[in-house]
Amino acid sequence: VIQICLPLNALGFVYREARDALVNAEKLFQLLREKPEIAEAPNMPALRVSRGEVVFDNVSFAYEPERPILHNVSFRIPPGGTVAVVGGSGSGKSTLARLLLRFYEVGSGSIQVDGQDIRKVSSASLREAIGVVPQEALLFNDTIGYNIGYGRKNATREQIVGAARAAHIHELIDSLPQKYETPVGERGVKLSGGERQRLALARAILKNPPLLIFDEATSALDTASEQAIQAELDALAVNRTTLVIAHRLSTVVDATEILVMDRGRIIERGTHAQLLQQNGAYARLWQLQQREDADQSRERMRAA
Ligand code: ADP
Ligand code: MG
Repeated sequence: VIQICLPLNALGFVYREARDALVNAEKLFQLLREKPEIAEAPNMPALRVSRGEVVFDNVSFAYEPERPILHNVSFRIPPGGTVAVVGGSGSGKSTLARLLLRFYEVGSGSIQVDGQDIRKVSSASLREAIGVVPQEALLFNDTIGYNIGYGRKNATREQIVGAARAAHIHELIDSLPQKYETPVGERGVKLSGGERQRLALARAILKNPPLLIFDEATSALDTASEQAIQAELDALAVNRTTLVIAHRLSTVVDATEILVMDRGRIIERGTHAQLLQQNGAYARLWQLQQREDADQSRERMRAA
């Protein structure tokens, strides 16, 4: 905890971002790197990703000692597999992602990637191996091209455009007078939440990492773009070890395992079919969402 939390506290603004949203891994890392005096112990070996297995072994965690957040959470994402996490707001889903990125350290238990405890490898190498499409994508005050290209050193313009196309954001960029040189952020073009998510997706596509985290990655999109982007997320996740924090249950149907979280505990787990069979919390969520979807499509029919 000391290693990571002290620097985050020292950089108050970063700490706040990490607390409020799943902060953009690359951005946080860049800020930490610019402050060598707060860097972690030297000589940490680099993570070696071979098959890409992720294990949470009996993980408990609290941001503040008096308020436990996660209780004995265990799961395994097999190499190339997908584990999906669903559950109410505040149940601890994004916390799992923050721990895997080592923004915080586990209170007890351990997290391993290919058998290596993530506390025993450099955070830089860990974060290099993980692509993140977060709930709220943070962007640099720089050009659109830079923001996409950030995930991969020396990316060519062609590769950046290819990633933007795959993330369904190229046409928008191409319609801007300065195209990929358009500044974003405070002084630049205002992007909607959905457009920011697409930029984050383009960055992840370009980064081509063995491990992925999607944290409600389509939450800022309307239904039509959500379906288009979902197809790209699915394509990106093929053969990559993926932790999906799901906003729509329709996106978790094919997961290797689904975890249902409630107040920091896994209360149900299994495949989609197994969980429907159990007829518990997941089945109720599923029925609720099916009804909402039906209502929504009726609304759209009426509006059309
Ligand atoms: P979810 O993603 O399931 O909505 P989170 O994992 O973000 O939930 O949060 C789980 C719990 O931890 C919530 O009660 C939230 O208020 C709390 N929490 C999240 N971040 C912090 C933090 N930095 N400090 C204290 N509590 C936090
Ligand atoms: Mg969350």
